[in-house]
Amino acid sequence: MAGQRNRPWGALRHYGGLLAPRGATVMRMATERNAGQRLRRLAHAASERAGERRSPSPQRMRTLTASPGGRLHWAGVPAPALPGPAGAIVRPIAVATCDMDPLVGLGASPFPLPLHLGHECVAEVIETGERVTSVVAGQRVVVPFQINCGRCPACLAGRTANCTAVPPVSMYGFGIGGGHWGGAYSERLAVPYADGMLVPLPPGIEPATAASVADNVCDAYRHVAGYLPRLLEADAEAEVLIVGSVTRHTLFSGSNSLYTALIARALGARRVTIVDRRPAVLAHAQRLELEVLQPADLRRRSPAALVADISAHPAGLRLALASTAPDGVCTSAGTLHRSARIPALAMYARNVTLHVGRAHARTLIPDVLDLIAAGRLHPEVVTTVLDSLDNAPEALREHYLGGGIKTILTV
Ligand SMILES: [Zn+2]
Ligand SMILES: [Zn+2]
Repeated sequence: MAGQRNRPWGALRHYGGLLAPRGATVMRMATERNAGQRLRRLAHAASERAGERRSPSPQRMRTLTASPGGRLHWAGVPAPALPGPAGAIVRPIAVATCDMDPLVGLGASPFPLPLHLGHECVAEVIETGERVTSVVAGQRVVVPFQINCGRCPACLAGRTANCTAVPPVSMYGFGIGGGHWGGAYSERLAVPYADGMLVPLPPGIEPATAASVADNVCDAYRHVAGYLPRLLEADAEAEVLIVGSVTRHTLFSGSNSLYTALIARALGARRVTIVDRRPAVLAHAQRLELEVLQPADLRRRSPAALVADISAHPAGLRLALASTAPDGVCTSAGTLHRSARIPALAMYARNVTLHVGRAHARTLIPDVLDLIAAGRLHPEVVTTVLDSLDNAPEALREHYLGGGIKTILTV
């Protein structure tokens, strides 16, 4: 495969990067609500570590740890205890890479290392608290990457990414930056709100097929599902344009673009085009019989009714907005850049709607599983590497350094 080779950030560059202005933005967002709870979680994690040194717990497990310099290794840590009567303990059995993982694992993100990686998984329920009614031990479930309670006003309105019972951006696999909830490349994961979070895996769907539904497939789904039916009703030939990487080199993986294209097709779009500069992503898209273009080709084309910006880059967002048709919609997966310029005048004149944000994963997971169960969506065709969880350090290192698209590891 004509893949890129990425380089890890060393400790100096990683910790220096945390002090950059975007680090302050992350800190401000992370502490704007429930800051006391976030601090208590950190203090608990620190005391657990100190206690572990004094008297090693008999309940141990391995968890994959990323350290600066691109170091990935198994660490022995105490297995999590049942997190209260509403919680569950699960065992991840299929874990997918997220498109953001190379950035995190190689130290180039604003999430401080070391951390326990992994936030997309299908798991087996091991133990449930006494108040849990929706799942039982032995059941296979999709575990949303975001932590949400299922009962607060935000959760009840379907805005589970902004659950008010937990600190902002609470999620697995991002270390203290995500609130210290553990990583999915582990033998056990604690789920604080089992009824509010876990979604049973429908019979007939393989765990590896649904592993990325926990995050990336839902993110792809929300780029199109909320807008496409209305656009197709007005114009059956309405085009869906997906802007992936606008640079030849990026630390983000390319799976989200491919999932978005497949979901657009599953929902009835006849014209679906992927724009990307990475040869491996374009080749994979062509194997899936998708139309592909280089960013420069867009200058000669008419704008599209629905544009998904999955570039994670300010230039990609600009290109996506410039390619959005009058009264069209541009949805953006966002960027870790602190700010981005947008073509405000052209957007005004064309009456363009822009949505930048994160998926409400728990709310969307059942809809995505329905599409898969009905045989209309096959996320597994995006997977480039299937390997054993035992090989996680080597398989993920190759994925991060080699610019892989989707690596899924199973027990
Ligand atoms: Zn993710
Ligand atoms: Zn909630």
